[in-house]
Amino acid sequence: MAKTELHLFFFPFMSPGHLIPMVDIARLVAAHGVKVSIATTPRNISRFQNIFIRDQDDSDLHINIHKLEFPFSEANLPETCESLDSLPTRLHSYNFSKATMMLQPQGDELVRQHRPDAIVSDMNLPWTADVADKYGIPRIIFHGTCCFSLSVSAVSAQHNPNANNTNSVSYTQPFLLPGLPDPVYVTKSQMPGRFFGNTGLEEFFAKFIDAETKTYGTVANTFCELEPKYVDCYAKITGKKVWPVGPVSLFNTKTNDIAERGNRASIDKDLCLSWLDSKKPNSVLYICFGSLCVFARSQFLELGFGLEASKSSFIWVIKDNNANEPVVLPEGFEERVKDRGLIIRGWAPQVLILNHPAVGGFMTHCGWNSVLESVTAGVPLITWPLFGEQFFNENFVLNQLGIGVGIGVHSGLAWGEEERIGALVKRDRVEETVNRLMGGDESVEGMRKRASQLGELAKAAVGKGGSSNINIGRLLEDLFSLKKERLETEVQK
Ligand code: UDP
Repeated sequence: MAKTELHLFFFPFMSPGHLIPMVDIARLVAAHGVKVSIATTPRNISRFQNIFIRDQDDSDLHINIHKLEFPFSEANLPETCESLDSLPTRLHSYNFSKATMMLQPQGDELVRQHRPDAIVSDMNLPWTADVADKYGIPRIIFHGTCCFSLSVSAVSAQHNPNANNTNSVSYTQPFLLPGLPDPVYVTKSQMPGRFFGNTGLEEFFAKFIDAETKTYGTVANTFCELEPKYVDCYAKITGKKVWPVGPVSLFNTKTNDIAERGNRASIDKDLCLSWLDSKKPNSVLYICFGSLCVFARSQFLELGFGLEASKSSFIWVIKDNNANEPVVLPEGFEERVKDRGLIIRGWAPQVLILNHPAVGGFMTHCGWNSVLESVTAGVPLITWPLFGEQFFNENFVLNQLGIGVGIGVHSGLAWGEEERIGALVKRDRVEETVNRLMGGDESVEGMRKRASQLGELAKAAVGKGGSSNINIGRLLEDLFSLKKERLETEVQK
């Protein structure tokens, strides 16, 4: 029996920050000669259709795609909402999660029919643990973030000295987390669960945690050289194996794959590249807050005024979170900045942009994919976390990697509170921070150099003999051994 006789079934979560890296991992595993299947809904499949076709035609890389019917009407959702980033408002996120839970019978039926040797599941689909259990196969979990943030989340959930105290001082008072390789301070206001307080989503969190106990190990989009202490630390905390196999964005080598990764871009890639070609090296700031972030209307204005005052060139990606109310920028802004500012409304070809030599900084919400894509491109960051584990990722960028400048947001807003609270960052702070990162002061040159070294390490990790490449091999060896054991036990019965 050869290792290539393995069959892995992937169940990604329907949100770009989870779906994109998981599809890359599936393709990476398939490139090792293993049979791979992905189960997701039609609109999520269509985001990758062209890439799958090119994989098949150019590289003979085949992935079996299985369609899951999304239960819109049962979950009371509009028929276009198959992904978290397509919800008209955050009020729908509870129903969305409920719908993803209802996928269990379809997932169960697929596994019953196809009998894979392992399930690779997103953490947000806890029912895959029951399915794996039922068919006696291992479940590998994918969280979407780094081992530093996973370790910090796990320790802070166990150790929160202010757990029952909600006064505002205790909320913003930093406390030291015990048992981590470095002194790490966090505040209660930065705890990932807090941001979803008004949505009812916490009902699902206990299910995620319970499912983790029935999990064989973690596959992570990171690489050992980036966070060696925290890869070990997270393995110790969970008592389970961890395979860092990233950065998985590097699996995309063709320009078309890079430009279409995750969605069809709202700008022609050649137009975008020729605009960047006209700029000096390291002179452009790329601004994008991922696929889900919501800002108050006044925050867009402050950001716009700050960018205008900074005099830096920039590409600003703007998502109209509410289709009925497009984002309004300062009056005359686009005309005044037309020689140095490119605005992309919708989906940007992020990895393509970050890897252009003209890009010298990335203002980001600190979603893990964005952070890692910036590291991989050797680009330093302006960190502006909003919710979830983004504050922990910021902590990692500023205090562990030393490749960023913080915008100065210390606690985020709960979902739905954005408009009521208004702009957290005023225009002067935007101007000052952008000038600091893009103005070439000495401390930033050090960051730029470190980021560039990390980018080289990232590329080496996925190359032949690199740590991530070796880890993919180890993961498959492990799953192969488990399969052999299972088959032997079945024969003995
Ligand atoms: N992304 C993109 N274009 C966009 C917005 C996002 O290509 O206009 C990609 C980005 O490259 C990353 C993912 O979407 O791979 C976003 O993941 P991240 O973890 O950074 O943030 P999230 O959207 O989950 O908050």
